[in-house]
Amino acid sequence: MPTEEHPIDVAVIGAGQAGLAAGYFLRRAGADFVILDAADRPGGSWPLYWDSLRLFSPAAHSMLPGWWMPEEEGHEYPSAAHVASYLSAYERRYDLPVHRPARVRRAERADGLLRLHTDTGTWLARRVISATGTWNAPHTPDVPGRDVFAGTQLHTADYRGPQEFTGQRVVVVGGGNSAAQILAELSTVATTTWATARPPRFLPDDIDGRALFAIATRAQQAAGRRASEQQGVAGLGDIVVVPSVREARERGALKAEPMFARLSRTGVVWADGTTLECDVVLWCTGFRPVLDHLGSLAPLDEHGQMAVEGTRSVAEPRLHLLGYGDWTGAASATLIGAARTAKATVAQITGELEHEARTGTA
Ligand code: FAD
Repeated sequence: MPTEEHPIDVAVIGAGQAGLAAGYFLRRAGADFVILDAADRPGGSWPLYWDSLRLFSPAAHSMLPGWWMPEEEGHEYPSAAHVASYLSAYERRYDLPVHRPARVRRAERADGLLRLHTDTGTWLARRVISATGTWNAPHTPDVPGRDVFAGTQLHTADYRGPQEFTGQRVVVVGGGNSAAQILAELSTVATTTWATARPPRFLPDDIDGRALFAIATRAQQAAGRRASEQQGVAGLGDIVVVPSVREARERGALKAEPMFARLSRTGVVWADGTTLECDVVLWCTGFRPVLDHLGSLAPLDEHGQMAVEGTRSVAEPRLHLLGYGDWTGAASATLIGAARTAKATVAQITGELEHEARTGTA
């Protein structure tokens, strides 16, 4: 139950993979903590992904800390539904204290602590870990003419499968993994055009998500700077050639056009005046971090991000962010990568809390 009088050590916001990974390490450290989740069912965003979506890594390379993801019978690359049941079983296995539905509406400072306001009560915590993901903040670029196009405009977040587009002319925008995977199946039932801001980059066919974890880690270490924006799945720009993408590429369905300059009432128009009529524009143009609930603790920049050192907010040292993209930890927005950042963050927090308890400081 929420308690104003007895603050808890840590409140985690969000029970997706990032929040659960934090929960695993908090449980192991013996911390007094709670996980608050807005949804009324487990699985984070995975139950909301389209039915045919497949992971870009096998189950054994998509595990959270402590417990292997079981294989999905008959599939090397698990489905989104399989991941959702794994996350559901994971929170039961480790008896994680998830409260749902409990959407955090607002956070505020309170005498050296942080107070979280939810629909069902108020929580007072010494530290807050926000792990609310990006799915609820789809991003669409500000292309002229979006308000005059008379056809349908959708975002990846609206996509449930190819059937509803049968026989239609669809322009898919975006050069990442979601666009490539959606195009692969859409192009079997619809007339598709692919528009990308830069030529899409395909990883070599023998590289999948297993290697991406290592690549992301090296890139982050080499660059030593935060990514300015979410680029495709998990902040990794390059396209993994999963079986459906390979098949579509061999069919010739993955030839990209440059990005168009504007939309007209009936289609899209390139800078040189070339036009293409279409029924649907599908924006596979990424997501922004879901951080509105923390706006009063730290300012958000034009990408919806806040300044961090590691996972700690620069403006509010009692606040940590987990899992939003490489800017909150290399590969931290992947299943396999969530553990590393969560472990370091929990160690930092519990170390500080122990010190504060020993020295009587806060
Ligand atoms: P989420 O899963 O979005 O969970 C966030 C949780 O926070 C939700 O349960 C939500 O209800 C809750 N929440 C939000 N706001 C509040 C609030 N104010 N108060 C309380 N609760 C709140 N990764 C891989 O490793 N392999 C893949 O193959 C892969 N494929 C992907 C394909 C797609 C199309 C996408 C979009 C992502 C993919 N990813 C993949 C990346 C990543 O693993 C997922 O995005 C993952 O869901 C992110 O987990 P999360 O815990 O950070 O956020």
